[in-house]
Amino acid sequence: MKKTVGFIGLGIMGNPMAKNLLKAGFPLVVFDLNRAGIEDLVKAGALPAGSSKEVAERTEVIITMLPDSPEVKEVILGKEGVIQGVKPGSLVIDMSSINPLISREIANELKRRGVDMLDAPVSGGEPMAIQGTLAIMVGGEKKVFEGFLEIFKPMGKNIVHVGEIGAGGFTKLANQIIVALNIAALGEALTLGVKAGLDPQTIYQAIRGGLAGSQVLEAKAPMIFGRNFKPGFKIKLHHKDLNNALSTAKDLGVSLPLSSFVQQIFVSLITEGRGEEDHSALVTFFEKMARVEIKSID
Ligand code: NAD
Repeated sequence: MKKTVGFIGLGIMGNPMAKNLLKAGFPLVVFDLNRAGIEDLVKAGALPAGSSKEVAERTEVIITMLPDSPEVKEVILGKEGVIQGVKPGSLVIDMSSINPLISREIANELKRRGVDMLDAPVSGGEPMAIQGTLAIMVGGEKKVFEGFLEIFKPMGKNIVHVGEIGAGGFTKLANQIIVALNIAALGEALTLGVKAGLDPQTIYQAIRGGLAGSQVLEAKAPMIFGRNFKPGFKIKLHHKDLNNALSTAKDLGVSLPLSSFVQQIFVSLITEGRGEEDHSALVTFFEKMARVEIKSID
């Protein structure tokens, strides 16, 4: 018999991740503030719950996949939260990308109730969430991780234990800095090429097999060239990640000049009303300065 798993947060990522757990045979109890999110999972075979507390009462492993630290804190430690219904010996796995210092605070509260926690953010976006091939970076006690590895397997391919609680979050922040700076570099570089009269598709074909080739280029170039900025990964969430990187860096006395710059670009795009668009729309900042669009020549 497989363990019954609770899943809270059924958005762009949580929906396919939960469905992959169902397909692998894990009975699932689900909750989201958005009723439509719950109904979609119920159609796929999950059982609905009325609150995060109820999810915890009915399961022994509770996964959260929520936007940011305040939501995770509310869902786990709040009045209708997991902590109100959780049984000692249970496990909470937070797969959201949040401030790792907050993960440590939450884990300490849970520990007092005899509950373990892993922070296990993911990378790979919606396509890899659907395929069940996410990269998963896990922080927390190694023996707890090893004991529950079977729960990660339907969701991810590259599943790595990276250290104590919070280490998953710090690894994810590194990931997010690299991705944000890569997209900014694409914007700057391709704007120059297009302004010089080249077809960006041709530039892409020429450079993708060289050192400038990357998974970011492969995933984002077709979206940029086709002017398709439907998320994917929302600008407002990537902005949140860089804020978390800058705030933890401040606490640790680390300077992040490149991340600060791209964080400011995200601020301007959000002000422009583009916060709900895919983070590939970061390139529009560079396009505007040069008055060009990086789109394929028909
Ligand atoms: P999303 O906005 O699509 O989904 C978040 C879900 O959480 C929504 O369904 C929302 O209703 C629910 N929610 C919010 N507050 C809640 C609460 N108090 N109680 C219950 N449900 C609540 O976001 P997403 O794109 O799925 O991202 C989730 C997390 O995964 C974020 O931390 C994000 O940074 C990270 N992430 C996203 C991607 C991506 O490509 N989208 C990739 C890797 C990591």
